[in-house]
This record gives sequence, C-alpha cells and structure tokens, in this order.
Amino acid sequence: MGHVVSRPAPPRRAEPYVRVRDLERDLAARVDGEVRFDPGSRGAYSTDGSNYRQVPLGVVVPRTVDAAAEAVAVCREHRAPVTSRGGGTSLAGQTCNTAVVIDWSKYCNRLVSVDEEAGACVVEPGIVLDELNRRLASTGLMFGPRPSTHAQCTLGGMIGNNSCGSTAQLYGKTADNVRRLEILTYDGTRMWVGPTGEEEWRRLDAEGGRPAEIHRALRDIVAGHAEEIRRRFPDIPRRVSGYNIDQLLPGGPFDLARALVGSEGTLVVVLRAELGLVPVPKAETLLMLGYHDIVAAADAVPRIAARRPLQLEGVDDKLVGYERRKHMHPEALAQLPEGGGWLMVSFPGDTQEEADRRAHALMDDLRGGEHEPHMAFFDDSKVEKELWELRESGLGATARVPGMRETWEGWEDSAVPPERLGGYLRDLRRLFHEYGYDDAALYGHFGQGCVHTRIPFDLVTAEGVAAFRSFLDRACELVVSYGGSLSGEHGDGQARAELLPAMFGPEVMDAFRQVKAVFDPDDRMNPGKIVSPYPITSNLRLGPGWTPDDPEVRFGYPQDEGSFQRAVMRCVGVGQCRSHTGGVMCPSYRATGEEEHSTRGRARLLFEMLNGHDDSPVTGGWRSPAVRDALDLCLACKGCKHDCPMSVDMATYKAEFLAHHYAGRVRPAAHYSMGWLPVWARLAALAPGAVNLLAHAPVVSDALKRLGGVEPARPLPRFAPVRFSDSYRRRGPRGGGERGEVLLWPDTFTDNLAPRIAAAAVEVLEDAGYRVVVPPSTLCCGLTWISTGQLGVARRVLRRTLRVLTPHLRSGTPVLVLEPSCAAVFRDDSRDVLPHDRDAKRLAEQTTTLAELLAATPGWDPPLVAADAVAQPHCHQHAVLGYDTDRDLLAAAGVRLRAVGGCCGLAGDFGFTAGHLDVSLACAEHELLPALRAAGPDTLVLADGFSCRTQIEHAAGRRALHLAELLAAARHGLLDDPEHLPGHTREPQRLTTSAGTSSRPQTWTHAG
Ligand SMILES: Cc1cc2nc3c(=O)[nH]c(=O)nc-3n(C[C@H](O)[C@H](O)[C@H](O)COP(=O)(O)OP(=O)(O)OC[C@H]3O[C@@H](n4cnc5c(N)ncnc54)[C@H](O)[C@@H]3O)c2cc1C
Ligand code: SF4
Ligand code: SF4
Repeated sequence: MGHVVSRPAPPRRAEPYVRVRDLERDLAARVDGEVRFDPGSRGAYSTDGSNYRQVPLGVVVPRTVDAAAEAVAVCREHRAPVTSRGGGTSLAGQTCNTAVVIDWSKYCNRLVSVDEEAGACVVEPGIVLDELNRRLASTGLMFGPRPSTHAQCTLGGMIGNNSCGSTAQLYGKTADNVRRLEILTYDGTRMWVGPTGEEEWRRLDAEGGRPAEIHRALRDIVAGHAEEIRRRFPDIPRRVSGYNIDQLLPGGPFDLARALVGSEGTLVVVLRAELGLVPVPKAETLLMLGYHDIVAAADAVPRIAARRPLQLEGVDDKLVGYERRKHMHPEALAQLPEGGGWLMVSFPGDTQEEADRRAHALMDDLRGGEHEPHMAFFDDSKVEKELWELRESGLGATARVPGMRETWEGWEDSAVPPERLGGYLRDLRRLFHEYGYDDAALYGHFGQGCVHTRIPFDLVTAEGVAAFRSFLDRACELVVSYGGSLSGEHGDGQARAELLPAMFGPEVMDAFRQVKAVFDPDDRMNPGKIVSPYPITSNLRLGPGWTPDDPEVRFGYPQDEGSFQRAVMRCVGVGQCRSHTGGVMCPSYRATGEEEHSTRGRARLLFEMLNGHDDSPVTGGWRSPAVRDALDLCLACKGCKHDCPMSVDMATYKAEFLAHHYAGRVRPAAHYSMGWLPVWARLAALAPGAVNLLAHAPVVSDALKRLGGVEPARPLPRFAPVRFSDSYRRRGPRGGGERGEVLLWPDTFTDNLAPRIAAAAVEVLEDAGYRVVVPPSTLCCGLTWISTGQLGVARRVLRRTLRVLTPHLRSGTPVLVLEPSCAAVFRDDSRDVLPHDRDAKRLAEQTTTLAELLAATPGWDPPLVAADAVAQPHCHQHAVLGYDTDRDLLAAAGVRLRAVGGCCGLAGDFGFTAGHLDVSLACAEHELLPALRAAGPDTLVLADGFSCRTQIEHAAGRRALHLAELLAAARHGLLDDPEHLPGHTREPQRLTTSAGTSSRPQTWTHAG
C-alpha cells in the first residue's frame, strides 16, 4: 500500500448567488409549511452534533412531502442549495450548510402503511425511530438497526447516513433494511427506486425520460469502474464511507435504493421509504465480559461474533472511569465484572430460556481458556436497561469530564475488519499517545469492528487545528492500512470527505463525482459534503478565528469555572432534548416540535449570541430579540439540568439572559405582576376578602389580567382568609417534640393560597414527634424574581432570608419546604445566586422535603391509604429534589401509584403568562391530562407543586392533594371523599374559553 496521506481539498466553486429575500418570498407564497429566514431559526439550525457550523440561508418546515417537493422546485428556480435535516444529530457536519434547510421532523413523520405479511412498511422521512417502532409494536415487528440516538433520530436521517447502532450486529446497516425509496432530484425528477430487475429495466427503457437516463448513466459509470470499485471497497461489515455504488455493480441486483442510502442528502431528497422489518425479539439476555484491557476484549471479538449475538459492544476503562467521575449510572457501574475492558453481548430468543441458553453456551465456551474473562450474566430487564444506558451515553460521558480537556468528534467511528480490531486499537492508542490525546476513551460496536472515541483536540488555536489535521491524516493512513473505513456509521459529511481519496483512490473518487453529476450537476444538493468537499478545517464551530464574548454574569456557574460561555458550550448536540418520551426534557419542544424551542436550539442561539463568528445571524448580544423569543417558551422546568447528558441548565441561562436583556429597561407586565407576587401576596393578606372580590369581579378581573400580562383564560388564584404563618404564630408549637425541632418554611404559595397544606404538615410532623417552628417574619426564597431574571432583587431577598434564618441554620435545624420549586431554590439556585455564602450552603444542605424528613424519622410509619393514585411529580422534584423517597413512602402507605412524567405545563408564571396558554396546555396533554382522563373518580390525584395542582384544577377540573394533605387525611380516615377535605370548600376553578367556563373534559392539541 502506498502513502495514503490526503491532500487538501481543491478550492470549492464560489457559492451560487442567491437573492435571499426573493427566495424567501417565493417559498412563503408557494410552500405549504413554515418558511423561516429569521435570525433565530437560522441560528438554531447553524450546526448539528458535529464540530462544524454553517449558517443556513433559511429553514423550511414543510407540512407534506408534496410541499417539500415544491420547496425544492422554488430553490431550483433560485439556484439555491438544499440540505435535508431530520433530528440533526449527525456528527460529521452533513446537516449544516449555507443552504435552505428542509426540516422533515415536525410534520412529515407519518407511518404511511404497514404490510405485516410482507414484513414491510412505508414511512415519511421525518418519523423518529422509537416512534416508528412504538407504532409497529402491535404487529410484533420493528426496524432493525438502532443507533444510540433512537429516541430522536429520524428514518430520513438514518437513510441519509446509513445508520447502524448496536443491533446492526444482527440486522445489518440501514442500507440492508431499505427496500425502496421515493426520491426527488434537484431537477424535479420524482420516482420510486429499488432493485432494478430485467422487467424494471424494460419498463424504464420503454418510458424513457430522466428516470431511464439516470439509471443508464449510473450503470455505465459503475460498469466502467467495476474492477477498481471491487478492489477498493473493503469487504467489512461497517463500510459507511463513500457512496454505495457497489450496489450497482454488474451482475448484482442494481439496487438504486441501497446505493442512495448514505448519500447524506447530496444526491436526492428522500420523500418516502419502504422499509424491511424484523420480528421484535421476544426475550433478550445480556452477558458482560471483563477483560484485562480493551485490546484484550477486542481480540476476543471474532470468537464471540461467530455465535451471532444481537449486540456485541465494547467499553473501556476510561469511559467507565469518566462515568464514575460524573456520577453517571452508579447502579450499572456496580454490576460490572472485574476488568479493564468489557464486552457487552446480548442474545435474542423466542423465549427467555432460549436467550439464556445461548448466553450460557458462550460462557461455557469461554470458560477455562487462556483468556477467560470475568463474566456476569443478566436477565433482569431493568439492570440490562441500565447497562445499555451506560454504553449508549458514551458521548455524554466523555464529552466534558471534570478536570480534563474537552473532547470532540473528528475520528468518531472508524471501522476495521473485526478480526483485526485488537491490532488497530493497539496502534490507535499509540497514535493518541504520540499526539498527546491519551485521554480519549475507546468504545463502540466491536462485533462489527467499529470504534467510537472523542478526542481532546485543540480546536481553537492555529497550532491545535494543525495538529488535529495532521492526526486525521495519520489515523486515516492507519485505518486504510487495516483494510478499514474512515466512517463505520456516522457518515463522511465534511469531517471525512477530504480524506476519502486516501481510502478509495482517484478512480473510485472520480466515479463518485460522476455519480454526483448524474443527480446534481450544478452541486446544489448539500454541497461540500462527501465529494468536492469543504476542507476539514474550514467551517469549524470553534476554530482559530472564534472570538466569543465571555460576559460578566450574575450567577456563579461553579461547574463551568464561572464562565457563561463555557456553560453555553455544554451542549454537544446529541439531541436528547428532542425526544418525545421519558423524563421531563424538553416540554416546550414536545409541545411545539420546534428546534428553536428545544434545549439544544436555545443553547445554539446563546452560542451565536456570544458573537464568536462574524457571520452570526444573532446580533445585539444580551438585547437580542431572537434569543428572547426562543427563551420565552422555556418553562424553566430544569428538566434539561437533570435529563441532558451534559446537564445544560437552561432555566439558569434564561434567568441570566433576562437579567441582562431587561437591565435598565421596562420589563414585560408579567415580570411585575407575577415576578413580584410575594409582595402583592403580602399586601393582599391585609384584606384578602376584598382582594378576592375585586380580582374575581368580571370587569375588574379582566382589567387586572390585562394590566398584569396574565393569560385571560386563567382564573386568578384566591387568597386564603388567614395566612398559615399568621395563624401558626398565634397557635405556637405543640406536642412533645422528642424528635427535635423542624423549621417549616411558609412559602408564598402555601402560606397565602393553600394554608391547609401547611396545617396538614404540622399535624403530620407533630404526630411524628417534631416540634414545628416557623420564621418570625414573612420571608421569601426569591423564586419569582429568579425566574423572571430580576436577580438583584432575588439576591437581596435571599440574603434577608438567610439573615433571619441564621440561628436555625447554624444550629443544624432541618428546613422543611413543602413547595418543590422553593425547595429547589434553596437546594440548588441559592448556591448559584450566592456562590460563596456559607449560610446559603447550610440552607442547601438542611433543606428537606416532607417525604425525606419522614423517611429519615426512626419508627415513623405512614398511615394506610390503600388507594389508586395518579401523581404529577413537580419538574423540580424530578430535576433537583428527586421523587424516589416519595414513591417509596407512598408504596409503604399502600398507594397504587401511577406517577406521570413530563411537565404539567404551568411551571410557575409560565402558564399564567399571556400568550403561553396553548403551549402550557399542550405540555399537560403530553402525559398528565390523558392520565387524569383515564383515572376513575375514586383515583386520588397527587401533586406537591402549586403549579401542578393549579393546572390540574384548571384543565381537568380535579383537585390534587399535597403529600401532607394525603397523610393527614389518611390519619383521620377522610380519604373516601378526597375532593371535599377540610379547606377544599369551593368548586374547582376551570379555564374559561371563548365559550365560557370549560366544564367538560377536552383535548388540548399542541400549538404550532
Ligand atoms: C450521541 C450520539 C450517538 C450516536 N450513535 C449512533 C449510533 O449508535 N449509530 C449510528 O448509526 N449513528 C449514531 N449517531 C449518529 C446519528 O445520530 C445517526 O446518524 C442518526 O441516524 C441521524 O439521524 P437524524 O435524524 O438526526 O439525521 P440528520 O442528522 O438530521 O441527517 C442525517 C443526514 O441525512 C440527510 N437527510 C435527512 N433527511 C433526509 C431526507 N428526507 N432526504 C435526504 N437526505 C436526508 C441529512 O441531509 C444528513 O446528511 C450518533 C450521534 C450522536 C450525537
Ligand atoms: S441540550 Fe443536552 S440533550 Fe440537548 S442537544 Fe444539547 S447536550 Fe444534547
Ligand atoms: S428548562 Fe425545561 S423548558 Fe427550558 S430548555 Fe430546559 S427542559 Fe426545556
């Protein structure tokens, strides 16, 4: 093999000149869909999961595939380039371009038909893999390949990239599972393509036209280079680089569908796809094998792969160490057998016995040999799921490890023949060492020879970028010398395209270029990717020319060295915030389907706002209206802080942004009405009856809502006749208090609007042996000022609170907070607001929830409830406080619990703010409202958050109980009629619609 180092790509032709305003006008006039050329949309779509960034001309979100075809037609008339996009999770830059980006994911996501007998289905390209498999569940069939991004990647994207994932071990790559494609070329040719048998050739010849011309031209090109294609295409399971023109070789099926899979939107647009399906395995079993190190694990692969497992994955000790350091998956880590490199082997079966038998047969085979691994066998699906999550979160685990340089994609998915994997890893590690990249972890789809790694490249200095480029040449040389492929599953995009000549040689590259010219002679389809590439070191998201602001900030950002810029850079683009199931993140994306309203979209806009690149569409810094609009629908639910593998904390970034955006300016009315609620509540406490009368008088109520920026359909909350704190100060502590003292925090919501909950808590606590005290004066945690970005006031409020609480904090008294959002401020935000304050730290440590306090009380047992219940855990419980203790307590009380996921959609002031109603209700519609509709009248409804209870009351007309109320009522045997417990005297307040008060259950469809 000769010297294979690649040469720099030849300069690309100048970008076509496009009259962008005219293009936008024509797209808006002719395309049934959303046409967005605004700075916010362009900023949000400027990058994907890769190191690259290119600002699109604009974005089109077509409602139908025909509308998408029309969008391509308009682009053609304007000579504008087109880039398709699904979930935007690509790691090689193939989803960002100076082009019109067509986002298929929002509307073009239908499952068109299913043919169970033929084991096939037809889909539109925007359907997400997990969603497809969920809809197919009743048939017992599924789509086989399963990338780690299965919850957010689309079939269009999988076809674009020829995606694989761990199950490709058994089912093959996407190309192996595609039967036919309906495609559209830039010149408007639309046709179904697939295997071209003799009859099909006859039909094409008879009909003539562009379809026949395309087929014939491809046949001639490939036939002309057949020998070199056979020689240059490595015969390995994971060759994903280049175009699949080996599918068009003479003597083969001439399968144009499979040839187009992996073409990354550079040849055609895929309008529909007919997919082959496989039976869902009825049972699975997992075997973990621990070896001395990752190379020894790789050496063992061929013997294991011969047993045809479903998945055969490798994980090294670095990845495991990083997960440990980041406290990820502790339960799964505890299950790992001894070793320094592991293989995860799963076997499918028609029965559990069969799957287990296959695993045991392998164990028998490995036992007693020279390299016998440590073995752990699992057939508990919960443990297996945790272990697979450990593997699937490889990127998140290795992306930003405390105390380590940041790591990046770039050599993310090379592949070699599985039988040569051990040798390749040995050499790759040597190369890492030579370049000072030793921190890079190694993991991936070892059964097919595919290796994942993120490398600590320096992508911000000229020297670092030169080293990056030089490393890629060397790594390319290495993988080619092993008979491998630059990409084993993520595709070439811009990251690999320039290196392809080293793998395929000049003749095959020439064939690729001719193929490109057949479909797209003017280079308008995702230009600069795969062929005629942009140089690898151009269009970098960072790069030596990146000069971002690192502004002074109000929060501490202790995890990001105090830097807002570093905080914003946490987002690596995995796109988990675009998943529709599990956890809480991200309710506004789930409600709108909009990139801009996902955590990632917002992080991208904040990145653009920092002004690191001259061509950023987002201008104005903190004053940017585009960023403000994207953050407007962020519910500050903190779902991302918990669910995002990089712990992006958008609620904090939003508060930071609002603080600067409105500094010295008039704020929205809602910031004064709801942001200052604690003050208004204090004033209202002087004459609550009169305030309620006025606030609910028809004309006055409307006027107040208008004035306060409050959603007109929302009933205003009613103030209690007597605040809890006032009545309790009169009453004073009772009982023996043998368990010690607890400070009950009278948060604004409980104190003024639901004092019955605090009263119930007192009863439960005194019964448990506590002496309950309350603060001597009215205090506040500052939540409403934090969430509206009035951080100066929040800091003053919090400082005052700490001053008053000092004696309790310094004596170690637990602070019981009934409202989860206030508890989350004490436990979490307070440390960011007052990073160096020791009392803030004490408060964080001493804050407890009711469930936590009771669970830690020796000898305390919950009263028997024995009922069905639907619970909405508050999103701050999910993100900060945890709900497991509540769950255990409820189980011990005999509650048959269904805890719904997601966010209720009210989230503090969010759902009350004018203009948010649709999104607020669409969030509730995700899980909460369907669960309530399905619940019988005797089912208890539980919610500790004031917001959640309000949403439940407004949208479902049901009352929800706080845990304190449940426990107190159970003590008195009052749960037969939970809706009429003490304090629940009035009828539920429901939303008013244009037709009046809504009293019937209705389905709230999402906005957008
Ligand atoms: C953390 C992480 C883990 C990953 N793990 C895996 C893995 O295990 N296995 C794996 O294979 N990949 C993996 N990937 C890569 C990526 O997730 C997959 O390639 C995924 O299938 C891409 O889907 P998408 O919807 O995000 O596509 P996008 O990124 O949106 O698009 C991918 C390509 O398809 C093209 N495209 C999209 N729709 C169309 C259309 N309608 N017509 C024509 N072209 C179209 C795009 O132009 C682009 O070139 C991973 C990525 C990340 C960030
Ligand atoms: S916000 Fe988190 S989950 Fe979303 S893309 Fe960024 S890193 Fe991934
Ligand atoms: S705080 Fe909630 S709504 Fe806002 S970005 Fe994070 S998950 Fe989405």
